[in-house]
Amino acid sequence: MEPMEPTHGPTARGPRAEGPSHGEEPMVYAYEDGNVLAGPLSEIFAVDLTGALSRCAHCGSTGPVARLRVYGRAPGLVARCPDCDQVIMRLVRGTESAWLDLRGATTLRIPLGP
Ligand SMILES: [Zn+2]
Repeated sequence: MEPMEPTHGPTARGPRAEGPSHGEEPMVYAYEDGNVLAGPLSEIFAVDLTGALSRCAHCGSTGPVARLRVYGRAPGLVARCPDCDQVIMRLVRGTESAWLDLRGATTLRIPLGP
């Protein structure tokens, strides 16, 4: 008795617009994308850092800060690499100061206007 074979493979790039069909998604902590950092970071930096390119110190992948996975809620935010899930930056906003831990980012490439 042969197992039934699917008529088409699970291709992820079909033009279907019904959403992702991941069967089971592991229960991980909910996160938001890096855009939630825009507010807290705008208080510290004059430029919009969500458009900056951060290079992960762990796996070397480079991508916009907006693409990071941000866990937690202000005032304590932890941004993780979407590729290797290591911590790229931490931001804690205290009453009198903000703590920005960037040890997980090798570089931050910040686009500057003319
Ligand atoms: Zn990484």
